[in-house]
Amino acid sequence: MQDELTTMKRADKYMFNTYARFPLTLVKGDGVRVWSEEGKEYMDFVGGIAVCALGHSSPIVSKAIEEQARTLIHVSNLYYTKPQTDLAQMLVENSFADKVFFCNSGAEANEAAIKLARRYSRETFGPGRHVIISMENSFHGRTMCTLSATGQKKVQIGFDPLLEGFVFVPFNDMDAMEKALDKTVCAVILEPIQGEGGIVIPDAHYLESVRSFCDRNKLLLIFDEVQVGMGRTGKLFAHEHFGVKPDIMTLAKALGNGLPIGAMLAHDCISQAFGPGSHATTFGGTPLVTAVAKAVLNTMLNEGLLEHCTTVGEYFKNRLIDLSKKYPFVKEVRGKGLILGMELETPCGEIVKSCMAQGFLINCTHDTVLRFIPPLVVKEADIEALVKALDRALDEFGKAKRN
Ligand SMILES: *Cc1c(COP(=O)(O)O)cnc(C)c1O
Repeated sequence: MQDELTTMKRADKYMFNTYARFPLTLVKGDGVRVWSEEGKEYMDFVGGIAVCALGHSSPIVSKAIEEQARTLIHVSNLYYTKPQTDLAQMLVENSFADKVFFCNSGAEANEAAIKLARRYSRETFGPGRHVIISMENSFHGRTMCTLSATGQKKVQIGFDPLLEGFVFVPFNDMDAMEKALDKTVCAVILEPIQGEGGIVIPDAHYLESVRSFCDRNKLLLIFDEVQVGMGRTGKLFAHEHFGVKPDIMTLAKALGNGLPIGAMLAHDCISQAFGPGSHATTFGGTPLVTAVAKAVLNTMLNEGLLEHCTTVGEYFKNRLIDLSKKYPFVKEVRGKGLILGMELETPCGEIVKSCMAQGFLINCTHDTVLRFIPPLVVKEADIEALVKALDRALDEFGKAKRN
């Protein structure tokens, strides 16, 4: 583009300044690689924030987009469409759930889940029971409802009054959950592995305890699998690792490999609280996005992608553990499959910058946790290259710290 100003300068001029973006304009992607405007190659361990599971410009995704775009893109939910129905059937046949509602994002999926939980409780138990127990350091989205449900002050600043009806307890703390219970509570919402909160893994039996707490008290259990679902942990859904099933589950990020789609899944009896007219969206589950999600899900289930994710994830984690032993300021390495975190004693922005200078995109979450969420098609050789760059970044960081 022969504009006087660069893309970056024009973006800063014409768009809201809501993102602290890196000074990098990307123009092309292929697999785990992306290229900048200047032609510099990067290996991408962010994957569009756990979205591009099949990699960039996946031929599977491109073909599904192309074919469906020529056939039917959007008709609204006043009518039935085949791709949407097919995807719902596939999700049901491969999950705990009986029914699916489609929307356009993770926040919308959680918004729907919260509305459904309240409405189900109202219809089943009467009024006065609308409070949802959520976790500290959770992340559920940026709409008024979902930021109110999010256990992080930074997403709430300046937006009060927040939506009423959320109480927060620390993750992995059953005593706090028991104490938060009163007769106004209708549900618990949590991420089976906290993503934005710094890759926080549940203790052994924690999720089982939450499940039985919910059963004992007739509360709905909502799992937000927007980030950790769709193969990220090596199983289709993260909760499968823990032998615990939710009543409602939300999905988004990798479901469309970059096309905007979210989904809420639930048991039949709970889904009945949403009748015609109770909840809706114009775009939710268009033929285009659902045709793509079908192709994504099909690939995950039938092309060995989950097994691959488990194998390379294990390899990656061990290599990160090796590195952590060299550097005393690395506190812990944790994660499952291809959602891995390396927690440092200090903020990790400098490490991210150094990796970027070396041609590797990584991300920092919760201030001190390096997060690795590459496309699930990443190979051991790619991981080896990243580990080498990270080693250099950590080494430089350590030396600078000492000076
Ligand atoms: C990203 C994310 C969301 C929000 O999804 P959007 O598509 O950005 O609205 C909600 N929950 C979790 C766990 C997420 O990681």
